[in-house]
Amino acid sequence: MRNNFLLLLFSSLFINTQIADAQTKVKKSKKPNIIWIMSDDHSFQTISAYGHPISQLAPTPNIDRIAEKGVVFDQAFVENSICTPSRATLLTGMYSKNHGQTHFGYGLDSSKMFYSEYLQKAGYHTAVFGKWHLPVEPKGFTYYDIFEDQGDYYNPTFRNSSTNGKYIQEKGYATTLVTDHALAWLDKEKDKEEPFCLVILHKAPHRNWMPDLKYLNAYEDVTFPEPPTLFDDYKTRGEQMKVHELSVANHLGYAFDLKVEALKDVPTQDYIRDSWPLAMNRLDGEQRAIWDKAYENIHRDFLLNKPTGKELVSWKYQRYIRDYCKTVKSVDEEVGRILNYLKQNGLEDNTMIVYTSDQGFFMGEHGLYDKRFMYEESFRTPLIMSYPSQIEGGWRSDKLVQNIDFAPTILDVAGVAIPKDMDGKSLIPILKKDKNLKWRDMLYYAYYDYPAVGAVRPHYGVRTDRYKLIHWKNIDPKTKLSEFDHWEFYDLKKDPQETNNVYNKPSYGKIIKTLKEQIKPFEKSM
Ligand code: CA
Repeated sequence: MRNNFLLLLFSSLFINTQIADAQTKVKKSKKPNIIWIMSDDHSFQTISAYGHPISQLAPTPNIDRIAEKGVVFDQAFVENSICTPSRATLLTGMYSKNHGQTHFGYGLDSSKMFYSEYLQKAGYHTAVFGKWHLPVEPKGFTYYDIFEDQGDYYNPTFRNSSTNGKYIQEKGYATTLVTDHALAWLDKEKDKEEPFCLVILHKAPHRNWMPDLKYLNAYEDVTFPEPPTLFDDYKTRGEQMKVHELSVANHLGYAFDLKVEALKDVPTQDYIRDSWPLAMNRLDGEQRAIWDKAYENIHRDFLLNKPTGKELVSWKYQRYIRDYCKTVKSVDEEVGRILNYLKQNGLEDNTMIVYTSDQGFFMGEHGLYDKRFMYEESFRTPLIMSYPSQIEGGWRSDKLVQNIDFAPTILDVAGVAIPKDMDGKSLIPILKKDKNLKWRDMLYYAYYDYPAVGAVRPHYGVRTDRYKLIHWKNIDPKTKLSEFDHWEFYDLKKDPQETNNVYNKPSYGKIIKTLKEQIKPFEKSM
C-alpha cells in the first residue's frame, strides 16, 4: 500500500516536472531570434529600397525583401562615421566618447558590457561572423568566426572559437565565405530550444571594392548618373575642404582603387602604394588570370586615349561606382541566401532581421568618396528591419534614429532590460507605432580621427530634422597650434545638397544659438 502510494507520488512528480519542462520549452521558444547583418561602408544610395538613381541601375532585390516585410528608416545616422568606432557603438549602445573607441585604431574600453553578454545571460546562443576588427576579443559570443584584421576579399584568413587564435586561409570570396560559416552555425542552432542571435559583419563594400570574380564584368555596360555636386566648388565652406584627401578627382589610386595596374600611384600615398600588391597577391594563378582578362579589356581604351580634366573625373567616378556596386551585388546575393534559409526552415516569422551598415559613404557627392564627414551621405546609414510576427511591415519611418540605438533595440527584442549606461533607445516603440512615444528631436555627431587616411579634420555637430550645425576646430598634433576654427550651418529643407553654408545669415541667429548650447557636451570630448 505504502509502496503504491510512493509510486503514485513519484509518478505524479515526474509528470508535473514534464509538464513544467514542456511549459518552459514553449515559453523559451517564444523568444525571438535575431539576425543582425551589418556591412561595411554600404551607402543608402546603393540599396534600391532607398530609391536613389544609382540603385535603380544596380538594384538589391534581396535587401529589398527585408524592406517589403519590414520598416525602412529614412533618417538613420551614425554618431562617428568610421568603421571601428561604429562597431564599438553597435556592441555597447554608447557614443564613441563613452565607449572609448573614438579613433580608428584604438580606444575601446574592454570593461564595457557588450549587448552580447546580456543576451547570453538571458539564455541566447550568440555568434558573430566576419569583420570583427576591434582591439578587444569577442565577448558574450557562444561562437565566433572572424577575419584577420580588416579581412581580405580573396581567399581570406579566419580564426574561430576553436582554432586557439590561429588564422586559417580559405579559398573563395569573403562575402560568400562569411555567409557559408553563418549558415553552417545556423543549421546546428535552428532546432535548439534556446533562441539565437546571429551577427553577420561583411567586409564589403569597403575600399578597395574588389568584386567576386564572377561579377568582374557586371555593370560595365551601365553609365551611372553623376551626383549634382560631383564638381562642388566648396565656395561657402571653410579650410577643411581644401586639406582633405578624399576627392574622386585627386585621391583615388589608379591601381589600388581604379584597378589600372599599368599606371603608378601617387608616391606620397603610402597606404595606397603598399596595399595594392598585398591585395593582388592573395589571388592564385587561376584567379589572377580571370582578373587580368576582365580588367585588361576594361582599361585598354583608357590607356590608349586617356581623358583629361572633367572627363577624367567622370571616368574615375564610373570606375569607382561600378566596382563598388559589383561588391554590393554579392552582399545582396548573400543576404538572399540567409532569407531563403529562414523561409525554408520556418524561422521567418519569429526572427527579427536587420540590414544596416557601419556608416554611409559618398558616391561622388561633393566630389568625395569615403566617409568621416558629417555631411549627409556619410553621416546617414541604411537601416531596414523586419520582425513579421510582431511588427506590421511595408512602411517607412522618418524618426531621427542613430547607431547608439542598435544595442538597446536588440536587448528590448530579447526582453532584456536596457542598462542605464547605454546612450541609445530601443527602436521597438517606433516599429510598433506607439502613439504615446516621445522621441528625440536632435542627433549628435563627433569625428576625432586625425592624422589618418583621408586627412579629414576633427569636427562635431548637431542635426535636427531640418538644421545641421558643424564646428571644425582642430589643434594640429605636430605644432600644437590651432589649425582652424570654423562653423557651418545648413538649412536642409532649403538646401538638401548642403552646398550653401548659411552660418553668417542673421535670420538663423536664434536657432544657431540654441544648437550651440546643445552641442556643448560634445565639445568637451574633442
Ligand atoms: Ca565602415
